[in-house]
Formats: sequence, structure tokens, C-alpha cells
Amino acid sequence: MFTGVASRTPVFLIAAVVGAGCTHLSPVAAPVVVKRAQLHMGTLVSITAVASTSDRANGAINAGFAEIKRLEQLLSTWIPESELSSVNASAGKAPVHVSPETVAVVRRSLQVAEMTGGAFNIAIGPAVDAWNVIEVQRIPPNDELEALKARISLGGVHLDEQARTIYLERAGMRIDVGGIGKGYAADQAVATMEKAGAIAGVVALSGDIKAFGQLPGGKKFPVGIQHPRREGEVLLFIDLQDEAISTAGDYERYFDHEGVRYHHILDPATLQPARGCQSVSVIAKDGVWADGLDTGIFVMGPARGMELVERLDDVEAVIVDHEGHVHISSGLVHRVRFPNEPDEKGRPQ
Ligand code: ADP
Ligand code: MG
Repeated sequence: MFTGVASRTPVFLIAAVVGAGCTHLSPVAAPVVVKRAQLHMGTLVSITAVASTSDRANGAINAGFAEIKRLEQLLSTWIPESELSSVNASAGKAPVHVSPETVAVVRRSLQVAEMTGGAFNIAIGPAVDAWNVIEVQRIPPNDELEALKARISLGGVHLDEQARTIYLERAGMRIDVGGIGKGYAADQAVATMEKAGAIAGVVALSGDIKAFGQLPGGKKFPVGIQHPRREGEVLLFIDLQDEAISTAGDYERYFDHEGVRYHHILDPATLQPARGCQSVSVIAKDGVWADGLDTGIFVMGPARGMELVERLDDVEAVIVDHEGHVHISSGLVHRVRFPNEPDEKGRPQ
């Protein structure tokens, strides 16, 4: 998870509102807004804090970054000493004792797997490696992918919550929370910031964003969803308050070959890049659900994916299907703003 490769940011905060640096707003007693950015989990993490003083805002931001760094040490499979790396190194050998945080994120991952009928699968890593879309740009032959199937079966992932252990039953299996971990980290960072005295704020790990409270003056936090086919252009805007948004897209890491796009989100059923969507943005109370579901729904495709969103409480979505049509869930229709109205076929202009 958390690759070292910079990817395009699929959701971004509107800079004009949460502008950089420290803004002292008048009158003197009014809250202060501070925004800072650092690199963590292989991506740019920006944190905005609203607090009574700039010292308190900076303290909350420091606490947020420290929490993300702590979680990265537990969860990143790029760090050989991390808990998940130990779990993976012990595949087929023995259960590994892990922290409550690792249990929590793996439990959520298995829940999202169940909700999405297996479309979300944290054991898919060996197949993601076989494709290696960033470095190699090769199309693995079918027999090679078929041979991996036993190693990516979620039935082989054993989480014992009481004993706090994780066991992967076959050698060569591994788990990777790249499709859900940044959303979880955003939740945890927000909780830490609130404890440190922030009144409101936003934690954004690239496209995984969680907002709490309001900006001074009672404004919500506006975010723009990246247009999946027009780099740097906003598809639509949404205001967030006490909720998270996360986007999965086929435009972040991919290569094109003979007119077909090969990207980094794989359908566990076929081990081919999922074909139904260009991007999926999910809004939920917690980042862990938003992040897990964006990847899972991307695999499910627009019809089954939107059906799931409509069934779930407190979950909304914007799905851009493979033809570029924009689908917006019923609870969100009245909350989005398009920079340009869509054309008569529902496509963004
Ligand atoms: P990011 O914001 O880092 O692109 P996403 O939420 O879009 O994260 O998830 C993409 C990552 O999830 C991939 O890099 C890959 O490691 C992993 N992944 C790919 N396919 C699946 C899948 N079907 N289920 C769970 N994780 C997946
Ligand atoms: Mg995700």
C-alpha cells in the first residue's frame, strides 16, 4: 500500500477557502485557520485546523501528522518492519499478533468485502504485482493470473479479534490495505486533532478527505472532484461537514495499449482491470467506509454499485461510468454544483 509514486489528486480542497498559511481573521478573538502539508503514506497529506489560537491549531496539526505517521509504521507494506509486513512474511507459517488499529482496519476491510460481494479484496496484491502497471506495463497471460487465484482468496485470511492475530493460510498470500488505509488514517487523524483542541478542520491524504466542524463564519468545507478525463478540471463541487469523501479512478495509475486502458484497480473475479467506471467518489461519515467503498464500487460497476449506495444509510456517491456518464445518488443530487451543466446525455461538458 501507499506507493511511493505520486498520483494525480482525485479530490481537492478549494484553495480559495482554506488558503495556505495562517490567517488571522478579525475580530481578534475569532478562530484561526492554519493549513500545512507533509508527505506521508506515499502521498501529499494536507491538514487544515481551525482553533482559538494559532498555537492550538498548529498543535492539532502536529498531532494529526504524528498519528498518520504512526499508522503508516503499522500498516504500510513498503516498510519491512510494519505489522502488515510481518503478517505477510508469516503467510502459511503462523498467526501474527497485531495492534488494535491493524485489527480495526483489517476488520473493516473484510466488512467492505462482504458488502461488495468480494469486489473489494485486500488479498489481491499478488495480482496487482503481476500487472505492475506503473513500472512494467505488461499484460500478464491468463494462465499466470489463474495460477494466482488461490493466493488471493479472502477465505484464506483469518482475523482473530479476541486473540488480536492475523493469519494468512497459504505461503505467497499477502494483504495490503492500499484501497482503504488512507481513509482510516484520515479518521484517526481527525480524532487526534479534536483531542488536541481543534474546533474544525480537514485531513486530506491526496483524494481521501475527512472534514469536521465548520470554517469560521459557518461555512462548510468545499471540495472539488477531479474530472476523470480532463486533467486539472473539476467535475463537480460538494460541501462537506462532519463527513469524508474518497475517490477511486482509472486515471491515477495506468497505461494505454492498443486503445485499452490498463489501470491499478483489479476485479478479483477476472484479475483484469475493472471496466465499468472511470471514477467513483463516495461520501460517508467515516473515511474508512468512503475509501473502502470507492474501490469496491469501482469494481462492481455503476449499476450494482449505485444499488448498493442507495441501500446503505449515510453513504452517497458520484459514479462516472466507462462512457463518461455521471450518476449521482439520490441523497446527493441537491448538494452538488457543476462548473458547467452536463450535456443532454448526462455527460460533463
Ligand atoms: P488510491 O487513492 O491510492 O488510488 P484506491 O482507494 O483507489 O487508492 O485503491 C487503489 C489501491 O487498492 C491499488 O493501488 C491496489 O493496491 C488496491 N486494489 C486494487 N484492486 C483492489 C480490489 N479489488 N480490492 C481492494 N484493493 C484493491
Ligand atoms: Mg479506496
